[in-house]
Amino acid sequence: MSEVRVGLVIEDDQDIRELVRVVLSQAGFDVHVASTGSAGVTSARELNPDVITLDLGLPDIDGFEVARQIRKSSDAYIIMLTARAEELDTLMGLEAGGDDYLTKPFRPRELRARVEAMMRRPRASSESRSVAEEVDPEVSHNGLAVSAGSRTAVLNGTELKLTRTEFDLLLALLETGRIVRTKADLARRLRNEPYDVGSYVSDADERAVEVHMGNLRKKLGDSIQAPRWLETVRGVGYRLAPGSSN
Ligand code: CA
Repeated sequence: MSEVRVGLVIEDDQDIRELVRVVLSQAGFDVHVASTGSAGVTSARELNPDVITLDLGLPDIDGFEVARQIRKSSDAYIIMLTARAEELDTLMGLEAGGDDYLTKPFRPRELRARVEAMMRRPRASSESRSVAEEVDPEVSHNGLAVSAGSRTAVLNGTELKLTRTEFDLLLALLETGRIVRTKADLARRLRNEPYDVGSYVSDADERAVEVHMGNLRKKLGDSIQAPRWLETVRGVGYRLAPGSSN
């Protein structure tokens, strides 16, 4: 029953690389490491990891470009590890395809908590999926066909290449329709927490939701002014745009 989960650590600093390797090993991953960006891109392609931790400051290619290249072949959960607490870095990292980020120095417990929260989120069809079961297995809205079971979104006959985070946000809006979800609601959803727990959500986590929503909007080719799917409710959050008859 238990499937081996693969982790990939892309980090040039040996001490941090070892620390992250140990954290992921303890969380049950078969862990591989890479000390350069190019080696990391190659390993991501060959190993098809579930989780990747990605240092932004690598000796050869910067982490943003590494994330972009990995995203061409992988839907791994990517946690960016940033050396500086600069918001621009983290937002650029999320735009480049990262799912989450941690600022160094981070507590090993924090990394483990994020990885475990992510692993509770559904990935592929046959795994247990408490979240996906809340919606119909197939949903169609304004020409976009979404399957919660196979985790695919098809628009005009073409499957969209969504990250897991983007897919989960899209699904969250499809589930609740015209009910507005705040950024904090959606951030909690990404941690696999119920909406009504009211756990702490930082400004940075809310901005991360904005970035993921922006990425999702781009991939959908959706319009802010006349949305077909992602409607922004200013100062509040997001909801599903109304259905149209054509
Ligand atoms: Ca580094």
